[in-house]
Amino acid sequence: MRIETKCVQSGYSPKNGEARVLPIYQSTTYKYDSSEFMGDLFDLKADGFFYTRLANPTVDAVEKKIADLEGGVAAVMTSSGQAASMYSVLNICHSGDHVVCSSAIYGGTYNLFNKTMREMGIDFTFVSPNSTADELEAAFKTNTRCVFGETLSNPALDVLDIEVFANAAHKHGVPLIVDNTFPTPINCNPFKFGADIVTHSTTKYMDGHACALGGVVIDSGNFDWNNGLFPGLTTPDETYHGITYTEKFGKAAYIVKMRTHLMRDIGAMQGPQNAFLLNLGLETLHLRMARHVENAQKVAEYLESQIATGKVSWVNYPGLKSNKNYELCQKYMPNGSCGVVSFGVAGGREAATKFMDSLKLAAVVTHVADARTCCLHPASTTHRQLTDKQLEDCGVSPDLVRFSVGIENADDIIDDIKQALEKC
Ligand SMILES: *Cc1c(COP(=O)(O)O)cnc(C)c1O
Repeated sequence: MRIETKCVQSGYSPKNGEARVLPIYQSTTYKYDSSEFMGDLFDLKADGFFYTRLANPTVDAVEKKIADLEGGVAAVMTSSGQAASMYSVLNICHSGDHVVCSSAIYGGTYNLFNKTMREMGIDFTFVSPNSTADELEAAFKTNTRCVFGETLSNPALDVLDIEVFANAAHKHGVPLIVDNTFPTPINCNPFKFGADIVTHSTTKYMDGHACALGGVVIDSGNFDWNNGLFPGLTTPDETYHGITYTEKFGKAAYIVKMRTHLMRDIGAMQGPQNAFLLNLGLETLHLRMARHVENAQKVAEYLESQIATGKVSWVNYPGLKSNKNYELCQKYMPNGSCGVVSFGVAGGREAATKFMDSLKLAAVVTHVADARTCCLHPASTTHRQLTDKQLEDCGVSPDLVRFSVGIENADDIIDDIKQALEKC
């Protein structure tokens, strides 16, 4: 099946007389005919559901669809994107280990790694997303156990050179994990370029309607864990009756361990109701992403045309030929990147605030990447405690507006921007 068909059809195929639409299994619990069968489930000898903290039929169907969309062997859905990022690393790293990480990542991920996981004893070295092979090489240590990056970063819109990062990781016998939230599997296929594990905040384009928080981790099945660096996967797990994940589950070892170990112990599971809503979003993901890209390109070109009039000071969108990431974007995201455009309103913090207050169609929200056009001015909201100097230091200029272009008519979005810029 091609990706558009997978969006609609993958993951759930009803048998004769069963519901056509994926049912919501709103049940924590499953019933068995014998305790012997239940025992086999607990020993991972039989396949089936035993408790919704570990697996649920609604969630399972959506996991299978997303694994299919990314071209992976298996997936685990989590309660949020944050949980997915944490699980993806924690599944193979513990206290005393080290991670090489691109510095162009979502702020929430940066805090999770640099504060919470550092406090747990995992060390991180942050490197530029445009690092050369030599620069990356210098960041590795003997205890490095994975490399992490974002295919298209939120909010800087930097494109990761996936092949360079994957080659460096593989040279050191460790996997490359990438967060593919912004392009989605419709616009970027990280596994094709050597990434081993993909994560998402499904809260963004995948759900697409801003109604359900969620995350997912997908394994390509391509990484060979049998090199002595990952004893958690290649030696017996005494808490699971001495099962060795790579021996028993082969290519699905990483995902099975995440479910039986991290889900069992931490329990950041996605609920069946959210999985149902996410699945509705996924059915139209291919249509929406194409429209987001088409609209964002028009908006970015309009904004760029306003630099000459003195209303706009700069525009960042990887689909613009003038953009520093244009070539990388053509390589990794040939059908376009996503719907997010960032730009500076001439006149700095004050003008940007005036612009935001004058918008009529575009809503001022904390969210990004859904069907409705929305925007955020970090300097007066999420980053309001920082001075202009501190803002520049963390790569967010005081005039920066993060504009998430929706799937409305592009001319209506541009008209709204036009009237708001006139008031600045
Ligand atoms: C929003 C976001 C996250 C965190 O996801 P939540 O679902 O909000 O927990 C992680 N990565 C990226 C790129 C994001 O945009």
